[in-house]
Amino acid sequence: MTKKVLIANRGEIALRALRACKEVGLKTVGVYSSGDQELKHLRFADETVCIGPSNPLESYLYVPGILSAAEVTGSDAIYPGYGFLAEDYEFAEKCEGSGFKFIGPSSAVIKKMGDKITAKTIAEKSGIPTVPGYKDKLPENKGELEKIATKIGFPIMIKATAGGGGRGMRVANDINELISGISITQQEAKNAFGNETLYLEKYIENPRHIEVQIFGDGKGKAIHLGTRDCSLQRRHQKIIEEAPAVDIDEGETQKVLTACVNLCESIKYEGAGTIEFLYKDEEFFFIEMNTRIQVEHPVTEMITMFDLVKAQLKVALGMDFVLDQNRITFKGHAMECRINAEDPVTFIPSPGKITKMHPPGGFGIRFDSHIYSGYTVPPYYDSLLAKIITATNKRKSCIKRMKNALDEFFVEGIKTNHSLHLALMNDQTFQDNKHNINYLEDNFMKQFEND
Ligand code: ADP
Repeated sequence: MTKKVLIANRGEIALRALRACKEVGLKTVGVYSSGDQELKHLRFADETVCIGPSNPLESYLYVPGILSAAEVTGSDAIYPGYGFLAEDYEFAEKCEGSGFKFIGPSSAVIKKMGDKITAKTIAEKSGIPTVPGYKDKLPENKGELEKIATKIGFPIMIKATAGGGGRGMRVANDINELISGISITQQEAKNAFGNETLYLEKYIENPRHIEVQIFGDGKGKAIHLGTRDCSLQRRHQKIIEEAPAVDIDEGETQKVLTACVNLCESIKYEGAGTIEFLYKDEEFFFIEMNTRIQVEHPVTEMITMFDLVKAQLKVALGMDFVLDQNRITFKGHAMECRINAEDPVTFIPSPGKITKMHPPGGFGIRFDSHIYSGYTVPPYYDSLLAKIITATNKRKSCIKRMKNALDEFFVEGIKTNHSLHLALMNDQTFQDNKHNINYLEDNFMKQFEND
């Protein structure tokens, strides 16, 4: 019998998942909140179910609602996408317990890798380089703490093992800041995550953000799909991503790719995952693993022609699928601009009705988006409207193609960060690939605000 997948997400990723389900011959259930009835993928889903009011806590994050929708529609599996419940091991556990296949790794793996100290320990065991630091229980005695700090060297980053989404982190420049920072972060972590365990890391100044895409079959076999560079960020939110990462030490990259595959094989990782690194002076430093599909997965797809979402579905549902590193080849360069409904200077969200729009098109241009003319962007969710992806032979021509794509693309009725992307494409530092994770905020925005 044809299997049925419930897509427990919204926006562009729900549409992306729906398209992949149709391609591999799966039936689909689209779920939505009452504020989200206009979502594009709902028009193409075999069935749709309203799972609650606009507030995400009562709909996309409300586990009983999603499980009952799966129950009434007779779904076989649940596709989590990114955000919402995608990295919630308790949700994965409940899906498993209720007889629905969670499309992703097992709840035990999500739990392990979601705890940053455990993840770091597993990474080290697999030969992955990590940020020097201290992850045993922190001493209360100042002298003891000072010894540890001197060994790591200031500035030091205080991190909560249960932290996520940029929360539960603080930089300390001296011993006094370290002592006060520990007690504040501990309290914050206790309130936000119900777990006050902290660890320390050397603060890496002005690194690049490089990540590795991996894919595992859940039985102990894994492959890598190369690197991505996501150094253009604002408040740890990625704005532009590229594949492959260029101007990165080739020898170190190969070592890291092999170690990432080892890690995934050692934990019998299933599906798509990303291992994130900071990169500075030809050295990689592991920061975390994301046990889900990433927003930026298309750039990897465009240089490998490996359909990550289809592969997730096939592996999860036990369909015919061959995972073989030798079949993966890399060609050209791909870049993604995240178009958000927000003011390009203040970054304040700009929900509302799209009165008119025109998507970009042409050779080597991909437009992953759920928006259309007449669609109203609701104020309750993240502001991602569209991902424009360009692919060519080289980074330089990829930038030129992106400029064309941005020139053609317009959205009327709401504000978007379109002009920010266009200015970045024309920026010398970005064109020369000389930026790091702080460049946008520390340098570029000052100039952009004045123009
Ligand atoms: P989260 O799970 O909250 O996203 P991460 O561990 O991925 O946390 O870190 C988020 C961001 O914080 C990184 O992308 C990087 O910009 C910064 N960061 C984390 N660890 C360090 C470090 N040791 N040194 C410098 N910056 C760091």
